[in-house]
Amino acid sequence: MNYADVILPLPLATYTYRIPEGMTVGEGCRVMVPLGEHKFYTAIVAAVHDRIPPFDVKDIYAIHDAEPVVRQPQLRFWAWLASYYICKPGEVYNAAVPSGLKPEGNAANAFRKKGYSPRMQAFIRHADAIADEDRWQAIFDSLKRAPAQEQLLLRYIDLSNALASPPLRKEISRKELLESTGILPAALDALLKKGILESYDREVSRLQPYSSGIRPLNPLSEAQASAYRQILASFQVKDVCLLHGITSSGKTEIYAHLIADILESKRQVLFLLPEIAITTQITDRLARWFGNKLLVYHSGFSDEERVEVWKRLLDADEGMLVLGVRSSIFLPFQNLGLIIVDEEHENTYKQQDPAPRYHARNAAIVLAQMHEAKTLLGSATPSVETYFNAITGKYGLAELMVRHGVGLPEPDIRVVDIKELRRKKIMKDTLFSPALTTAIRTAIDAGEQVILFRNRRGFAPVVECRSCGWTPRCPYCDVSLTYHKAHRRLECHYCGHLAAFPSLCPSCDSNDVKTQGFGTEKIEEEVHELFPDAIVDRLDFDAARTRSACENIINRFEAGKIQILIGTQMLSKGLDFGNVSVAGILNADHMLNYPDFRAHERAFQLMVQVSGRTGRRDKQGIVYLQTSQPDHPLIRLVEQSSYRGMIDIQLAERNSFRYPPFSRIIELVLRGRLEEPLHAFAEIYADLLRHKLGKCIFGPITPPINRIQNLYIRKIILKIEASVHVAPIRSLIDEIDSQMKAHPHYFKVRIHYDVDPQ
Ligand code: ADP
Ligand code: ZN
Ligand code: ZN
Repeated sequence: MNYADVILPLPLATYTYRIPEGMTVGEGCRVMVPLGEHKFYTAIVAAVHDRIPPFDVKDIYAIHDAEPVVRQPQLRFWAWLASYYICKPGEVYNAAVPSGLKPEGNAANAFRKKGYSPRMQAFIRHADAIADEDRWQAIFDSLKRAPAQEQLLLRYIDLSNALASPPLRKEISRKELLESTGILPAALDALLKKGILESYDREVSRLQPYSSGIRPLNPLSEAQASAYRQILASFQVKDVCLLHGITSSGKTEIYAHLIADILESKRQVLFLLPEIAITTQITDRLARWFGNKLLVYHSGFSDEERVEVWKRLLDADEGMLVLGVRSSIFLPFQNLGLIIVDEEHENTYKQQDPAPRYHARNAAIVLAQMHEAKTLLGSATPSVETYFNAITGKYGLAELMVRHGVGLPEPDIRVVDIKELRRKKIMKDTLFSPALTTAIRTAIDAGEQVILFRNRRGFAPVVECRSCGWTPRCPYCDVSLTYHKAHRRLECHYCGHLAAFPSLCPSCDSNDVKTQGFGTEKIEEEVHELFPDAIVDRLDFDAARTRSACENIINRFEAGKIQILIGTQMLSKGLDFGNVSVAGILNADHMLNYPDFRAHERAFQLMVQVSGRTGRRDKQGIVYLQTSQPDHPLIRLVEQSSYRGMIDIQLAERNSFRYPPFSRIIELVLRGRLEEPLHAFAEIYADLLRHKLGKCIFGPITPPINRIQNLYIRKIILKIEASVHVAPIRSLIDEIDSQMKAHPHYFKVRIHYDVDPQ
């Protein structure tokens, strides 16, 4: 074998290098290769072969690993992702591997300095020579005039159990010893200098340990056990099963039983959750059941921690449970037995930017098949696509339609007609209907909690001059700016651009500049006025910009330290609150009128998910759904919690317009600084596509928001019948793309594909 095809961490296809004499290179190993004049990169070997390339190739400079860090079927999975999502293998590699494992540099010698470094920690032990009580006594005698040293040594003996035989002793770090005594380091240094104590460095893990104080699983209720058996039966004949179970029906308990089965057989489990839901809540629950078999992987991790998770999995020779977010599908699993995708309907499973623009749920199904493992999708409101697959027999289906405990059904949803209330002047200058206000008052007086949902952050989405109609817009995006009152400024929710709130209209100098509409910030302001005694907080992107801020709010709400929590869709993501008796959905209307074929599905899922946060073991929750379209068919379906009703309407609509799941959509997204040339370019591109593919090509279309971050946007939509094979279409797309390269504007236009856009 003289040549290696390698994947570079760049948006490129594989490159071929020569394997120098004497070097043994294996598939999945990391190699250092030169590219261009001075650059060196860490590449992954995708294949080794003897085919002489038709052009000059460079030599591999060095090899990093004797054992592969990327294994089969991981490499096969990468290849599938690049092909299905129409992107480069290097883009998949970049997303998949933490940067600490792929150092790069300008010269070969600078190279080794970068990348992952293990965390070292100083530990303290006593000198070997101090072997018996007499020696200890002599040492303490010698410390009579140094009380700090004496005290420190006593503490050391206490903490480390130093007088016991070696197997009973405990390793103690320098930091722990000093912190537990509060004594200054000088005393310790003196003991080290005298040779009584010794310091040594050892590599320690950055990952939080989950001690194995393990609790047994809860026995399943009859309904749960029946769903569990249905899942197992469907796994006998199908690769994928949907668990459709209402909130708090005990889906997580069923997952736990399935996980235990797999771990028993020494295989691995991946448990996927949408980003925000990996809170202490679910982590604690799983840690209590599975102890140190649990490995958590979320986006708040440093690159160093990512590397450690990666290494832990590479070394794992027994069953492991990985609880992770979307990107954890890239971890180096071996011998996966089961993937659980909880809240499978969540659209945050779709990666938007940059490539690979994968859908973690769909990719997980493929990954599982490559491991000959099964996939369980769980949700209270499954996506239309998944449900369609379940009722047409492609997936298995298990249902769980009662809440655990007293077997209460879903919450009581009451529609409030705010248009009528406004007309009758019952609701004036307020966001709260009398029914909702009373319910909140009663709940907080009874020591219960309330959540208020509005899918819009900030104070007001629009600012307008009442005398000339001027509204502030983002100079870089085709959107109006949202007013954030806390900072008295305007913000673009697409690019983050900030502007001051104008005291006078810049167009006509009038001082009649007012806000329109409302977001979570305005709700919070009014809640403070209406319920001055209540403890109120907000859960949205502004209040919880960091992971820890978000967890902090959720934990305080769980602990009952917040009475009213106001939030955006962040509230709806699989959080389990025990004491919420009332929810308010403040104006569902804009969710209904959004121009997207998934708008109604989304609106239904959001409202039902928010409603699902209410209710306690012994009490049904009540939801006030405020809308000015109370007779809208979708509102009626939410009111009845009729998931099947929503599905039937959606499937009929999608069938008649040939939307997914009856077709597959690939969007070709073109972006450029100048609108005219972009549009002209997009038209030529669309014509070429139409010439080859005919009537399945739509566009170029101008999206509702046609400029973001100073780039104009055009989209060409490929709508392919579900029965048609996609592979030949992909090669056609590639062909057309290379033809377009001749166009003078090609390199001024940014082009990417979005397969199965959400
Ligand atoms: P879901 O995942 O469907 O939302 P959970 O598994 O979180 O539901 O269950 C809701 C609550 O009921 C949790 O607090 C859970 O501990 C409790 N629960 C559910 N099933 C059982 C069971 N079989 N035994 C004990 N507690 C259960
Ligand atoms: Zn004006
Ligand atoms: Zn902007």
